Amino acid sequence: MFEDYRGVWVFIEQNEGEIEGVSLELLGAGRKLADKLSVPLSGVLLGHDVKGLCPEIISYGADQVFVVDHPVLKDYRTESYMKGVIQLAEKFKPEIFLYGATPNGKDLASAVATDLSTGLTADTTMLDVDLDNRLLEASRPAFGGNIMATILCKKHRPQMATVRPKVMKALEKDNSRVGKIIEEEIFLQEEDMRTKVLKIVKDITKKARLTDAHVVVAGGKGMGDLQGFQLIHELAETIGATVGGTRDVVEAGWLPHEQQVGQTGETITPKIYFAIGISGAIQHIVGMKNSEFIIAINKDPNAPIFDVATYGIVGDAIEIVPKLIEQFKVMQK
Ligand code: FAD
Repeated sequence: MFEDYRGVWVFIEQNEGEIEGVSLELLGAGRKLADKLSVPLSGVLLGHDVKGLCPEIISYGADQVFVVDHPVLKDYRTESYMKGVIQLAEKFKPEIFLYGATPNGKDLASAVATDLSTGLTADTTMLDVDLDNRLLEASRPAFGGNIMATILCKKHRPQMATVRPKVMKALEKDNSRVGKIIEEEIFLQEEDMRTKVLKIVKDITKKARLTDAHVVVAGGKGMGDLQGFQLIHELAETIGATVGGTRDVVEAGWLPHEQQVGQTGETITPKIYFAIGISGAIQHIVGMKNSEFIIAINKDPNAPIFDVATYGIVGDAIEIVPKLIEQFKVMQK
């Protein structure tokens, strides 16, 4: 019975005791849905020695936190986390359950959806509810990004979605918020697990992930060729920024897909975004338009990128970028 399912849940992803940003963003989005439906918003936290994170989850908007604390849950594994989440979902029956569209969030949500025989909308970028029917409206780009599709899960509960990081906004942290902490026991034994975490190898590259970077230097086809694109790397290196690029640059093999910004790449909100030799196609703009400062360099004064730029330089990037690098180096001395 659908009436048995009530409440909005957010899976709180934590890594070594630190909550992923997308989970806090989802608490902000979940808060709006829960208020609209007049139901509580719950955080779902699994891990080992993680109870201390509950006040933070409440301060970002949750009314209550379900915690499953167990040594077997120390590191993420599909099997153990799925068991914990399913036990909670079957017992407390949420009507909506949101996860971050991170590698672990996607993995867990798809396993849980399969086990609960319910629907899952992946990589959502907009969330709302149809109040009359209590239906989650999960929207995402479809058919290669050419249209937005709103996906409903009419026949099963809970209604589940993974949501892209950096698309929703977290609420301001409010330490005065109060909430309930509900601890749940789970029967798990290490010897029953089919997988073991032998070692966690950290990415030790100096550069921040595109989604975490404060400053991004992004280049487009206007850099001419792979050699011209080296100027983008050089500028980024000089100012300690992360490199990004357009889809055309990725398709040309100048950058890996992980560095692509836009509708079919990453959505990012750095403090400073350099858009160099980038025309400003809508599919690119959607991935970077919420950056705090956008500095565009393009030889075409009518390039659409200037419509979203805070500062614009009209000119040849191949001449301008070396001058910028030189000036930044002088400033650093
Ligand atoms: P161009 O559009 O070729 O622009 C090059 C720019 O450089 C021009 O404005 C030109 O004036 C300027 N220029 C040329 N020479 C110089 C110079 N010497 N100095 C300064 N400026 C110069 N794109 C993305 O970026 N991300 C996505 O996620 C994405 N997803 C897509 C999904 C779909 C379904 C579709 C259909 C398209 C998608 N695209 C995406 C592609 C997008 O439509 C554009 O084709 C792409 O963003 C253009 O890349 P660009 O700006 O590098 O190249």
